[in-house]
Amino acid sequence: MTDTAPHSTAREAQWSQELRGSGRRVTRQRLAVLTAVERFPHATADDAAAAVRQELPHIAVQSVYVILADLTALGLLRRIETPHSPARYETRVGDNHHHAVCTACGRIEDVECAVGHAPCLTPQWSPGSAGMTIQIADVLYQGLCGDCRAPAAGLTIYPSSTTETGAQ
Ligand SMILES: [Zn+2]
Ligand SMILES: [Zn+2]
Repeated sequence: MTDTAPHSTAREAQWSQELRGSGRRVTRQRLAVLTAVERFPHATADDAAAAVRQELPHIAVQSVYVILADLTALGLLRRIETPHSPARYETRVGDNHHHAVCTACGRIEDVECAVGHAPCLTPQWSPGSAGMTIQIADVLYQGLCGDCRAPAAGLTIYPSSTTETGAQ
């Protein structure tokens, strides 16, 4: 017996454990979807399906969609909504990280938690709202990436190092 086969990575062992803990069978399809999203963070469903089909050519795109939704509901994947883009998926879950999206080309980057713990923002409740105990504040930064910044001369771009206003 050997466990050096390419499919028995430590990551897959961890996913298998989480799947079983959620009452799901560990299937090649589920592991292939997780592996694809791990390889292509912030993949759209179509990106993920294309990657999965390289390994499992006969899987239906619709099956990939169903698996993505199920794994998201189980917490093994995180689904990110950005403007003007289909939903994206990633395997980096549970760490309260945020995202920055380029408004010109749609490129997306991870942003570490702004304050180091969840939630990142303290709400100022509007008059009349009942208030809630906030557990997550999901921040979406929007701006221009390096590739898109140059053609947009005329816009004032602030250096990213001048964000000390809100520091505790
Ligand atoms: Zn861009
Ligand atoms: Zn991310």
